[in-house]
Amino acid sequence: MSTIKRILVTGGAGFLGSHLCERLVNEGHDVICLDNFFTSQKTNVQHLLELPNFELIRHDITVPIWLEVDEIYNFACPAAPGHYQYNPIKTIKTSVMGAINVLGMAKRCRAKVLQASTSEVYGDPEVHPQTESYRGSVNPIGPRACYDEGKRAAETLFVDYHRTNRVDVRIVRIFNTYGPRMHPFDGRVVSNFIRQALDGRDITIFGEGDQTRSFCYRDDLIEGIVRMMNNGEGFIGPVNIGNPGEFTIKQLAELVIELTGSSSKLVYRPLPADDPTRRCPDIALAQEKLAWNPTVPLRDGLEKTIAWFRSINISEYRPPTPNY
Ligand code: NAD
Ligand code: UDP
Repeated sequence: MSTIKRILVTGGAGFLGSHLCERLVNEGHDVICLDNFFTSQKTNVQHLLELPNFELIRHDITVPIWLEVDEIYNFACPAAPGHYQYNPIKTIKTSVMGAINVLGMAKRCRAKVLQASTSEVYGDPEVHPQTESYRGSVNPIGPRACYDEGKRAAETLFVDYHRTNRVDVRIVRIFNTYGPRMHPFDGRVVSNFIRQALDGRDITIFGEGDQTRSFCYRDDLIEGIVRMMNNGEGFIGPVNIGNPGEFTIKQLAELVIELTGSSSKLVYRPLPADDPTRRCPDIALAQEKLAWNPTVPLRDGLEKTIAWFRSINISEYRPPTPNY
C-alpha cells in the first residue's frame, strides 16, 4: 500500500497550518490547504503553490465541502484573542460547524481527523500544571467564551463521532505557540512585544505582568501534532502539547528587550477580563504515549522569531481586524 496520503489541512494558510502543510508536502503527501484567509494570507503558502503535491482552496469551513481524503488536520479557527473576539458568533460557528463538517467528511471517507484544541479549554485553571483529566474553569458568558466553549464543544463532537460512528479521531490541546510567520498584527504577547521592542515603542504589559504562560516553539508543536496523528495505538487524546517552561509576562518582556537590544520601557495597561492567571502544561501523557518532548528553549526560539520579524516588510501584512 502507498504511504502517500491525501491530507486536508483546514486553516492551512495560518501560522501553524502553513508550517504543517510545509512538513506534510516535504514528506511527499498530497496536501490540500483550505482557508478563508480571515487571519492569514496567501503569501504564507506561496512557496508551496507551484508544487505538484500542494493545492490551495479558498473556502469557509462553516460551509460543507466534498473532498476525498485520508487524513484531516482541523486547524481553521482564529486563535489570537483580538481576532476571535472580533466576531464572536463567527468564531463559535467556525469551531462547531467546522467540526461537524470535517467529522462528516471523515465519516464518509473513513479518514482520520485531528482537532487542534487548546489550553483555553481549561479556562482560568485552579489546577497547576494542567493535566488532561482536569475539566477546566471556563466562564461561559465571558469575552473568551466564544473561543473556549467553541473548542470545548468541538472536543465533544469529536469524541461523540468516535463513540457513535467509530470515526478515527485525535484531539490535541495546544498551549501558547510562537515562531516565525505569526501574524504581526495578531496582538498576541510574543508578536506584540517583539514588534514594540524592534520599533523602540513602549512594551505593553497587561495587569502586573505576574500572570504566566508557557511558550512552545512552532517546530516542537508541529512534531507533537504529527506524532499524535500517526500514533498507531488508537490513542485519541486529548493530549496536551506545549512547553512546560513557565514564564511570567514580565519575564518575557525583559527577555525580549535583552535579545533585541531595545531601549523600550515597560508600561502597564489594564488586564483584560478573564485573562488566565497561570498556564502550564503537564506533558506526561505526551511523553508516555508519543515519546514527545519539546526541544527548543524560549531564548533560542525567541532569537529565531526576532530574526524573522526583522526580515519582514510589515507593509505587506493586512491587519485582520481594526482592533489590532
Ligand atoms: P491562525 O489565526 O494563524 O490560523 C488560523 C487559520 O484558520 C487562518 O489561516 C484563518 O484564516 C483560518 N480560518 C479562520 N476561520 C476560518 C473559517 N471559518 N474557514 C476557513 N478557514 C478559517 O492561528 P494559529 O495560531 O495558526 O492557530 C491554528 C489552530 O491552532 C487554531 O485552531 C487554534 O485555535 C489552535 N491553537 C493555536 C495556539 C497557538 O498558540 N498558536 C494555541 C492553541 C490552539
Ligand atoms: N499580554 C500583555 N501584553 C500584550 C499582549 C498580551 O501583557 O501586549 C498578556 C495577556 O494579557 C495574557 C498573556 O500576555 O496574559 C498572553 O496573551 P496572548 O494574547 O498572547 O494569549 P492568551 O494566552 O491570553 O490567549
